[in-house]
Amino acid sequence: MEKAFLRTFGKGPAKQYAIDQIRYKDDDGSLLEVVNPLPEYTAEQVSGLRELFSLRYLSLNPLDRSGVWRYREFLPSFKPFDNVVTLWEGNTPIYPLPVCAQYAGMDALLAKHQGNNPTGSFKDNGMTTAVTMARKLGARMVACASTGNTSASMAAYAARARMKSIVFIPEGQIAYGKLSQALDYGALTIQINGDFDAAMNVVQDVCEKGNIYLLNSINPFRIEGQKTIMIEMLHQLGWSVPDWIIVPGGNLGNSSSFGKAFYELKSCGFIDKVPRLAIIQARGAGPLYKSYIASDRTLKPVHAQTRATAIKIGNPVSFSKAWYAVDYCDGIVEDVSEEDIAIAKSRIGADGIGSEPASATTVAGCKKLVEKGVIQKSDQVMCILTGHLLKDPDYSVEFHKDELYLDVERKTTVSGSQKIDTRGFSNKPVQLPADASVLLDYIEKKQQPPS
Ligand SMILES: *Cc1c(COP(=O)(O)O)cnc(C)c1O
Repeated sequence: MEKAFLRTFGKGPAKQYAIDQIRYKDDDGSLLEVVNPLPEYTAEQVSGLRELFSLRYLSLNPLDRSGVWRYREFLPSFKPFDNVVTLWEGNTPIYPLPVCAQYAGMDALLAKHQGNNPTGSFKDNGMTTAVTMARKLGARMVACASTGNTSASMAAYAARARMKSIVFIPEGQIAYGKLSQALDYGALTIQINGDFDAAMNVVQDVCEKGNIYLLNSINPFRIEGQKTIMIEMLHQLGWSVPDWIIVPGGNLGNSSSFGKAFYELKSCGFIDKVPRLAIIQARGAGPLYKSYIASDRTLKPVHAQTRATAIKIGNPVSFSKAWYAVDYCDGIVEDVSEEDIAIAKSRIGADGIGSEPASATTVAGCKKLVEKGVIQKSDQVMCILTGHLLKDPDYSVEFHKDELYLDVERKTTVSGSQKIDTRGFSNKPVQLPADASVLLDYIEKKQQPPS
């Protein structure tokens, strides 16, 4: 069979590059994508492959245990798989969310929790493939700009591969859970005086001039690994295709990878139906939403503002690929307010599941789309929870103490001028003396149904 190669993404004349050429963009600035030569599977081959994937759950080979490399037939660009750097990523659970379903007006709602990855976010699904490629290419040093999770993931995988890693983060704008990971995994951590978009610009320059391998999602091998989130999901659903996938949109790598996954799976005959895709952005960081509403496919960067720091991105790198995913999956783009995000996050919590704020855009978006009549209450909907609650514990504590501010400033006390309304959903901690009778009185009072 022919080999995988790189190609200019999008319309216009497509240039091709060898798979082992270090390049992230074409000369005119267009993105590149990996083209995978997949066969046209017969029905028999499809069921054989499905059986093989299930058998791999019983294997002790790390390649089979990983929820990414288990599906390596769809990752031919990494052949022969002898450089794989894995932390047993993927294998993330699908949970029913009854509280959220009721909140959103649905009969039922499902969530695939990518926060249950080794470093606590879906970034691991794409980092295992991109760091594997870095190793294949002989890279000694890797770098990324990050709102936090990419740096945490890259630092971990680079450490496993014994490579040096450098992270560029917007000063004072990343959550502590994430910063602590990058530091612990030994990344050279540089706080850039500016926002994520500024960090993203400078890292591309540094990588090009400094001969450093770039691991942002502009790197097409990140997208390859993230495709398997959808493959694993279908496997877990017994290969039935949900009506809707709902995903947060920041730099738009994840949305893009889902579109590519469904395109490839359908083209090779592995599935015969494609779900609809709903990409949800925070209102203050919604350039794709603005473009969607205006039916204008030129990217107009915005100055991003949201407490969901993982999606605080005003100039998304994978904008054009995300548009392709929207088209291919009959998708839509929606935006949600800071209050909607905060309250949806607390409803996910009420289901016993923690997520970070960006992930909660999915449940908030679902509610809004049900209200608009776009999603029907009986539809099968899969929310992609992208990161773990403990990534950003400050957000949760501030929410529950009714001290959540869009423009938070943390000195010795928390303050700000733009308070985010928690609409009675907060769960405030209280201070009481260590006296059993006082405590029992309080507990009893709390058990009374509210009048
Ligand atoms: C990176 C990230 C996002 C945004 O994903 P994109 O691929 O950049 O759109 C959303 N949520 C979390 C938790 C993330 O880490």
